[in-house]
Amino acid sequence: MFEKILIANRGEIALRIHRACREMGIRTVAVHSTADADAMHVRLADEAVCIGPPSAAESYLNVPAIISAAEITNTDAIHPGYGFLSENAKFSSIVAEHGITFIGPTPDHIRLMGDKIRARAEAEAQGLPVVPGSPGLRDPAQARKHAERIGYPVIIKASAGGGGRGMQVVRSAMEMPNALATARREAKAAFGNDEVYLEKYLTTPRHIEVQVLADSHGNVVHLGERDCSLQRRHQKILEETPSPALNDKQRVKLGDLVTAAIKGMGYLGVGTVEFLYDDGEFYFIEMNTRLQVEHPITEMITGIDLVREQIRVAAGHELGRTQADIEFQGHAIECRINAEDPQTFLPSPGRVTDYHTPGGLGVRVDSALYSGYVVPPYYDSLIAKLIVHGTTRNECLMRLRRALEEYVIDGITTTIPLHQKLVENTDFVNGAYNIHWLEEFLSAAQ
Ligand code: ADP
Repeated sequence: MFEKILIANRGEIALRIHRACREMGIRTVAVHSTADADAMHVRLADEAVCIGPPSAAESYLNVPAIISAAEITNTDAIHPGYGFLSENAKFSSIVAEHGITFIGPTPDHIRLMGDKIRARAEAEAQGLPVVPGSPGLRDPAQARKHAERIGYPVIIKASAGGGGRGMQVVRSAMEMPNALATARREAKAAFGNDEVYLEKYLTTPRHIEVQVLADSHGNVVHLGERDCSLQRRHQKILEETPSPALNDKQRVKLGDLVTAAIKGMGYLGVGTVEFLYDDGEFYFIEMNTRLQVEHPITEMITGIDLVREQIRVAAGHELGRTQADIEFQGHAIECRINAEDPQTFLPSPGRVTDYHTPGGLGVRVDSALYSGYVVPPYYDSLIAKLIVHGTTRNECLMRLRRALEEYVIDGITTTIPLHQKLVENTDFVNGAYNIHWLEEFLSAAQ
């Protein structure tokens, strides 16, 4: 097993990884920007190395600085968390070239799934149903041809896309030239790559994703699904498992399909296979080759520590469990709490003057906040994840309402009030929502 792991990340996820390492008796190295010198992940780690100024490009994305930090601290392995360098195939290769283990899949799998056009083809080859779509687009005339075959509305997506950015819905042939130009420009600006493709635009789907875990000995299990349909601008706000939309038969069928596909790919580590679910059918949209923000809800219903498993399989250990060993118990919900105004969603960095977390049975808070901490303005606004588990969905909801009420974060504005409104809403309580529901709910509340 590794003796020392460098955590190439910050905030709640750096802390989450540190906790798993500590329980496994592995020493940790934190890296941080000058803006994060007082951050909780720096305080708790065994060692800490400053890797640059506040801007992420010069610190958390600074590959030479991170590799140097790993070398001077004699690190065996690097955990990238999510975001930053977690899906950067080049980074994972460089890590390996330095004789350090990258905790994640192979660079080839990262590269394959990072190219959404290739990922769709691979998913199809592995027997997964995919959204009807096109290859890479050349010009408006070819794009129109594909759109006519698929049927309007269609959505233009960036092949290198992520974070819900750079998508354009096209409702008629007339709109195609402008939409294509805009999508290309946005993709180039956001991802440095202007390759785009078409998918059928599904009008009322749910976003349902399956968590997988694979070792280097050919063993693969799935850990059930997560329903992440509550989104704003294609970004997840609240997630739950199991999905209120699926029955056990559909669940087993989807899990088996995904497990077989992952086995077929020879994949290693944790991963998430994302689908849109509409009218009883599943359609693959992409695979994330890293730990997800919303992984804790899966941990709550399976009792499996995903970070520990990720580290174990990266070290070459066997899973040591089969699908039949995995039991799903109860229901779990995660609320993403952002340092943002709950109405305008404008960022609200600043000093946390008072901090009190909820507790009690079935309540988990993943956060790097503390009283007196200053939320810096340079990074993602996610500051806490409130995760609640109950024996039934109803119990989970009652507990969530209670926990949200107890949570005190003073000095900055957060999205807690938004979650409080959400958990009182009848549609949400009935599980009657799709990927567009939250935006409609938000505009109705204006
Ligand atoms: P990203 O990698 O940027 O997160 P995804 O392909 O995972 O992009 O899609 C993110 C979200 O965008 C989905 O959860 C869904 O809400 C919406 N979306 C993506 N593809 C489609 C589609 N074909 N039809 C309708 N909505 C879509």
